Amino acid sequence: MTPSDKIRKELEDAKHELTVLQARLDDRPEFGLGKGGAGADLYEMWLARKEVVLARIQSLEEALRRLELGEYGRCVRCGKEIQPERLEILPATSLCSACAREENEDTLAPSRRREIALKE
Ligand SMILES: [Zn+2]
Repeated sequence: MTPSDKIRKELEDAKHELTVLQARLDDRPEFGLGKGGAGADLYEMWLARKEVVLARIQSLEEALRRLELGEYGRCVRCGKEIQPERLEILPATSLCSACAREENEDTLAPSRRREIALKE
């Protein structure tokens, strides 16, 4: 399977999941929101999942665009080649492992970043 096939397949799956989630979310009145309980929790969960799926669709579409432009497999941050084994696992990634690590530190630990900023 080429990276393009893989990405297209994943994009298809993600769009399907989004359709399913959206249908469930549209059924919301049946939960009787406001009563709380399991229905509302489930709704929150689907809403959170929808955000994840939307972000996934976006990154897959970006990966396809990079494929068309011939920029696929190159890190958008440092411009180096992304490790083939990394692309194998994460075909939609736009970052090499070193940059991904730094980006994760940026996004996942803002409090830690503040600590570092204060020390400097
Ligand atoms: Zn990089």
